[in-house]
Amino acid sequence: MSFENIGLNDCVLDAISPLGYEQPTPIQEQAIPIVLQGKDLLGCAQTGTGKTAAFALPIVHQLSSNPPKHKGRKKPIRALIVSPTRELTSQINDNLRDYCSKSGLRTTVIYGGVSQHKQVSALRRGVDILVATPGRLLDLCNQKLIDLSTIEFLVLDEADTMLDMGFLPDIKKVIKMCPEERQTLFFSATMPNDILKLSSSILKDPERVQIDAVNSAAETVEQKVYSVRQTDKKDLLVHVLQDESIYNALVFTRTKHGADKVERHLRNNNITAEAIHGNKSQAKREKALARFKKGKVQVLVATDIASRGIDVEVLELVVNFELPNLPESYVHRIGRTGRAGNEGLAISFCNEGMERNHLAGIQKLIGREIEVIE
Ligand code: AMP
Repeated sequence: MSFENIGLNDCVLDAISPLGYEQPTPIQEQAIPIVLQGKDLLGCAQTGTGKTAAFALPIVHQLSSNPPKHKGRKKPIRALIVSPTRELTSQINDNLRDYCSKSGLRTTVIYGGVSQHKQVSALRRGVDILVATPGRLLDLCNQKLIDLSTIEFLVLDEADTMLDMGFLPDIKKVIKMCPEERQTLFFSATMPNDILKLSSSILKDPERVQIDAVNSAAETVEQKVYSVRQTDKKDLLVHVLQDESIYNALVFTRTKHGADKVERHLRNNNITAEAIHGNKSQAKREKALARFKKGKVQVLVATDIASRGIDVEVLELVVNFELPNLPESYVHRIGRTGRAGNEGLAISFCNEGMERNHLAGIQKLIGREIEVIE
């Protein structure tokens, strides 16, 4: 199927053609017609599959084709997208801005950790689509600065991460503020029981779409494991990165402290590196990400939470400096590379201790063995 015959209007098609989107990705092919039919959606898909456009394009289509359903006092907010982290919300908002470029719809993003001043000014000017993290959203709703009673589309993105981060109570409150009559789209990379329970409480007769959530990245990304002593990992990392053909890499560490240590070690070896994690200010994280995207910094060192939503067109290599104890995190991590058809490589450092168990869990989840290089 092509974008031309998927049912999207010219506003949307003209906006995506300069972005080089030629063919819908599998999730887009499945989800867009469902959303255009006005149905609720339960999507099992991870970042990197084209999930954002899968929900955003049909929403932009609907909002640009139809007048607001619920009249607010001023310009009503018509679509709300809730997602777990600042990085992810910013990324979604950036994408939306592109998708709305021909329709005149306005979007804005709000997240915590920064002053609310600018965000509130943007809201006052009026927006059609709001992208938000749960905490700041609830905060501004409580201050009566946001009115959700005019919402027509509610999207919950990366629901599993939001639950892991303890956002369930906030999400429940936010949903109560939205009108009953709305279309709800719910995305999660994994579907454990608590997620299914939450989804069934907020979706009405949903259509299910599943894009091999758990191991799609695991299939497209080349993976290797290096068996290495914990104390030798830093030097091995330098060795791997000094391989000239590597243009950029994202390195995962288990802890914030560990991320800082790796950053220092790389810099001491003349490799440009920046660490991003929860202890760094939002401004610093954004700057680091921007420098990385521009190719001014070769290596970004991140913890799992900070890495969510990092969307770099071409990311050559993901290094798991430490293997995550949750196998799903491994799939999330390696899914940062090999996106939208690019080739990707993921190298994991596995010590002789607990990481052997983590590796076993990962292999079980992805359903195959990864080559271990001693
Ligand atoms: P996402 O899974 O939403 O994070 O998207 C992953 C990446 O794929 C983003 O950089 C998108 O801009 C890009 N993308 C999404 N849909 C398409 C498409 N149909 N063709 C080419 N690139 C796409």
